[in-house]
Amino acid sequence: MKFFLFILILVSSIANANEFKYLQSESYWTVRPSVFVCSDTNINIDLVKEAIKFWIDNGFNIDPNPSYKDCDRPISFGQITIDYFEEGDNPKNLNGRTREWSYIGKNELLEVEIKIKPSLENEIDLIKHELGHALGLDDDRTGKAVVMRHARNY
Ligand SMILES: [Zn+2]
Repeated sequence: MKFFLFILILVSSIANANEFKYLQSESYWTVRPSVFVCSDTNINIDLVKEAIKFWIDNGFNIDPNPSYKDCDRPISFGQITIDYFEEGDNPKNLNGRTREWSYIGKNELLEVEIKIKPSLENEIDLIKHELGHALGLDDDRTGKAVVMRHARNY
């Protein structure tokens, strides 16, 4: 596995949030993904747009303009959707979770689903963090980090 250390330093408005460190995972996009916010949430699309801009400024290829969509319909190829956790779908009480879909045995990302806690919908660092995962970055769990990975349970 080819390791590529990607280091982000965020000036964070979240108490106790630290510098983020990521490792490149084996997942990657072969198309430029677009971001969709489920229309039955109160997630602020301008906040999502700002989070996307952060990743574009860090060299990632992603559609700069998020839009709302009806998430009762199945997600489709090339989309990153952001939704709330559903009742009972967050037993570990995570702040956010990102799930990726690929063909079995392949690393190309097809679709990504981000779920966040409704109470944290205005925390841009959470959205940035989960978008990092949606772009194929993993949390650095090597324990070699000079600074803490991140204090929050993202
Ligand atoms: Zn994470």
